[in-house]
Amino acid sequence: MQRLELGPGLIHIPGYFDPAEQTGLRVELDAVMREAPPFQPRMPRTGAPFSIRMTNCGELGWVSDERGYRYQPEHPETGRPWPEMPDLLRRAWRDLSGYRQPAEACLVNLYGEGARMGLHQDRDEADFDAPVVSLSLGDTAVFRVGGTRRGGPTRSLRLASGDAFVFGGEARLVFHGIDRVLTGSSTVLPGGGRINCTLRRVTAPASGAGWRHASAAFLAPP
Ligand code: FE
Repeated sequence: MQRLELGPGLIHIPGYFDPAEQTGLRVELDAVMREAPPFQPRMPRTGAPFSIRMTNCGELGWVSDERGYRYQPEHPETGRPWPEMPDLLRRAWRDLSGYRQPAEACLVNLYGEGARMGLHQDRDEADFDAPVVSLSLGDTAVFRVGGTRRGGPTRSLRLASGDAFVFGGEARLVFHGIDRVLTGSSTVLPGGGRINCTLRRVTAPASGAGWRHASAAFLAPP
């Protein structure tokens, strides 16, 4: 498996999931979405809708509405707990995070035609020791990633179905976003579009478990 190190803590693993695993993940995510129907998040204060829809699995889910960005243990519309994280996602976290404790949250973002995501940092977590592990399914995304300073230089790369992208350590707070999704570039999702699963730790780390301690496993080539 190829590991493309774009910079310290910034790693792209093309084809992390093989085609059979991509189909398996799609089936597992279908079950997640039956239990936790995708909803349309809204911007804090203005209430303007995002262009993507989202849902979550795991103990905690990320939501956004007029009250702000936050993690919460239940679906904002059904009030039910989020479904369990599928096995393939847990395995990806174990393989790729270099972090001793399991992921607490998996945000599932659904990109339809014309959906995009502006440059932002993932910083609603109390724990920046753990990396963010992102997994792509379906149509290829044109991904943009910069440094930790807003307005700094960025670069663009494509994330295809099955790809993993990990940012941690000194890259944990890099700005990133999705410029666009290349409609029709994959047949993995019968309805088209793209699903991105983002795995994160949310709560403050227990003593002894941390990025620095575990980073060797993540940064070293297999
Ligand atoms: Fe993000």
